[in-house]
Amino acid sequence: MTELFDLYIANGLVVADGKITRANIGIRGEQIAALTTDAEQPTARRVLDAQGKYILPGVIDAHTHPIYMDDKYDTSVSAAFGGVTTLIHYAYVKPDEKIISICETFRDDGIQNSILDFGMHAGLFDVANQIADVPAAFALGVTSFKVFMTYAKLKWMTDDYWMAALMDTVAQARGLVNVHCENGVVTDYLEDKYKRAGLDSKKMFTAMRPARLEAEATNRAISIAQVMGCAVYIVHNSAAENLEPLRRARQNGWRVVGETCPQYLTLTDETTQTLGAPAKIGPPLRYARDNAALWQGLREGILTTIGSDHAPKAKNTRDDFFDAAYGAPQIETMLPICYHVGVNQGNLALPQLVAALSETPAKTYGLYPRKGAIRIGSDADLVIFDPQKTWTITNANQHSKAGFTLYNDKTVTGAVELTMQRGRIVVENGALRAQRGAGQFLKTDTSHFYK
Ligand SMILES: [Zn+2]
Repeated sequence: MTELFDLYIANGLVVADGKITRANIGIRGEQIAALTTDAEQPTARRVLDAQGKYILPGVIDAHTHPIYMDDKYDTSVSAAFGGVTTLIHYAYVKPDEKIISICETFRDDGIQNSILDFGMHAGLFDVANQIADVPAAFALGVTSFKVFMTYAKLKWMTDDYWMAALMDTVAQARGLVNVHCENGVVTDYLEDKYKRAGLDSKKMFTAMRPARLEAEATNRAISIAQVMGCAVYIVHNSAAENLEPLRRARQNGWRVVGETCPQYLTLTDETTQTLGAPAKIGPPLRYARDNAALWQGLREGILTTIGSDHAPKAKNTRDDFFDAAYGAPQIETMLPICYHVGVNQGNLALPQLVAALSETPAKTYGLYPRKGAIRIGSDADLVIFDPQKTWTITNANQHSKAGFTLYNDKTVTGAVELTMQRGRIVVENGALRAQRGAGQFLKTDTSHFYK
């Protein structure tokens, strides 16, 4: 006898489209084939009882760096344990490298190794020599391009001339420019000044990368993008001050997307002072008033996406702070931390959290409603989330090769029970069920910003 569905998730609380509805989900092949409220159970090869559990669209993490301690396989494994089903990685194109060859190699490596579906942004380090190849990247399915306004001394910074040129070119092709907004020349000056004065670099870290200089760069990026007619995505907003330029852009109807990250919503300079080098990230962890303002920004729809900025580096607490690299693992803890601090502590309603983690990233990158939606015909990329389960995040129970988490010993309520991509179970009850290479490459599409 043929079964009606391959998989049937019964009695779950489905969180999608701004609401929570009790429903059953029938999955056939890779897609959602039915959404019902019937009490009667149809035949299915396997039935999962989700009584008391939330069914979320898989998290779409549009901010990942699978080039440090975690490669494309490791990143996707950590992601899956954290309820993430789609990744949009930054493919970094260093000076003397070519956008197309880097992106092709990066894509092929992902197809061979990722357990999850993924797309790519190109991160440009030498816009002057790389801009000619930008139009050709669109044919590859790469439609977003990142530049840094900071890290001048590291030679990662793009100046305003070339940022404007990139925005001009990207706008013609209906793409998106993603910007790390901090005034890199001035933060370098402050770093030199504090170092010359012999001040402790850990103690001075947050003061060296002040909120005002992040807000200044954010305002500048948005303004230049507006002049160039380009859609712009401001990555990892960390400061209360950033809400001012973002709010103005939104009021004017400009094409601006504001992202924040779990670390900026929940951690502060206190973590930097306690953990030292592992907590060195850019922008820095700031203060409780920034955490509160960022939640407010999400509630108001001024910030609309949450990404992880997963960038695990080899660091430990005893390392010299000044010499330590920027970045920390974040992808596996993103959903549980945001759920615990966001929903349980009353900072954000669950449907809004799901919008920021899944629906809006999918819409931004043209993946919706194939991804980021629980609808008939959508990919069955789903998370079964147990809102009752209390557990403790530890360095030991994380899957990142970093070997540490900034949330070590934090107890949270709410846990990922099952992660599914295109109808395949990827993680179930703490066990990995997916194979290397199961993920597919996704072309992004940002042309909707220009309609
Ligand atoms: Zn990043």
